[in-house]
Amino acid sequence: MRIAMIGTGYVGLVSGACFADFGHRVACVDKDASKIDGLNDGVMPIWEPGLEALVKANVERKRLSFTTDVAEAVRDAEAVFIAVGTPARRGDGHADLTFVFEAVRELAPAMKPGTVVVTKSTVPVGTGDRIEAILKEEGVTDVSVASNPEFLREGAAIADFKHPDRIVVGAEDDRAQDVMREIYRPLFLNRAPILITGRRTAELTKYAANAFLAVKISFINEIADLCEAVDADVQDVARGIGLDNRIGAKFLHAGPGYGGSCFPKDTLALLQTADEAGVDQRIVRTTVEVNDDRKQAMVERVSRALGGELAGKRVAILGLAFKPNTDDMREAPSIPLVEGLIERGASVAAFDPVAREQAEKVLSGVEFADDAYAAADGADALVIVTEWDEFRALDLERIAASLRGKILVDLRNVYDRTDAEEAGLTYYGIGRGRPRNA
Ligand code: NAD
Repeated sequence: MRIAMIGTGYVGLVSGACFADFGHRVACVDKDASKIDGLNDGVMPIWEPGLEALVKANVERKRLSFTTDVAEAVRDAEAVFIAVGTPARRGDGHADLTFVFEAVRELAPAMKPGTVVVTKSTVPVGTGDRIEAILKEEGVTDVSVASNPEFLREGAAIADFKHPDRIVVGAEDDRAQDVMREIYRPLFLNRAPILITGRRTAELTKYAANAFLAVKISFINEIADLCEAVDADVQDVARGIGLDNRIGAKFLHAGPGYGGSCFPKDTLALLQTADEAGVDQRIVRTTVEVNDDRKQAMVERVSRALGGELAGKRVAILGLAFKPNTDDMREAPSIPLVEGLIERGASVAAFDPVAREQAEKVLSGVEFADDAYAAADGADALVIVTEWDEFRALDLERIAASLRGKILVDLRNVYDRTDAEEAGLTYYGIGRGRPRNA
């Protein structure tokens, strides 16, 4: 199949490279010329494990190309995927569809008759209908629009794309269904379930999935707070409930609250859709509140560990990206934490294995260290914010020796209390009881 991918960000680039790897011919388009120039020189715009090699291999096979020219990419395509950003609109949290509609207007004049237009971006219910209307307005007579929401996780994006739990396709006509089945045939042969639904249903499925996962995270975070108050261990509670197949162990890790480019904006957008439909979604609304409060509360947690005073203290932060294996800083819990610490008079030294460049764009007043030990040097407390693998096996005695304050605030429950205490640290985890040596 010949495919055009409009938007070459996390989703567009990974999807484009994987489709090319399946054997399709993919032209990836982005309006950001520096991204396209970089890709044509073999430079990845994002940090994602395995991506560079996958892109390189498929460029060499001449199945994957990059351009800023929409018309050139779309001209021969049997399917055009839209994978542009749909950020939360300032003020009301509605999904901002400006980029999506702009892309549709740009691609319409170049499309050959019968091309299927597919939204891979996360878009509110009814967006497919609006795209259909725009295409007609732009003079496209033979219109076919499908929804194909993406469920990949940054940091494991290629594996997720190639081994999905399911593929959801919302298509109202046979042609769209046939084209989508053909595109995903390699996965279908691998027995990945393909779920064909109505277009509106597919659009909503993506929001329902993200909202449910956000609920799960916020649920265990609240249970963690309760564990702290009653001296129970949330790790064991999570395991105790997660082994129940009806519940499942994933997304039951207590922590500093969810961030990233999806959950925060998608939960808000779902609430907007619900408002417009006149249907209250109390669980999701509360989840958003619980998570916002939690992210803000992490400053107070660090302050408590430091005896209630942050002014003049030096805090070392390990991990800035919103999760490991990515350099994505969007809505990262590290942002309100670092800002809050600095606002309350602390100085911050931070280390992240890959997100420094992105972090420098959104955080000011931070001293960036070259590794975990350098960050810890002379600090009053060390705070683990993102659970990168390399933070799981730190030499705790060396950390304790470097620190001035011997305090470890482990917002990801990476360490065992006993190990930390034996190394001479006072350990504050999440939902795991009180320090024994405070
Ligand atoms: P991104 O910001 O990384 O990439 C979007 C790209 O689209 C940018 O490079 C931008 O320059 C480009 N673009 C915007 N308008 C364009 C136009 N008219 N023509 C060509 N290029 C254009 O965004 P992302 O993280 O890849 O997310 C894209 C969509 O996928 C969003 O709707 C998001 O919610 C959804 N999604 C993201 C993830 C994820 O993990 N990041 C997972 C599933 C779904």
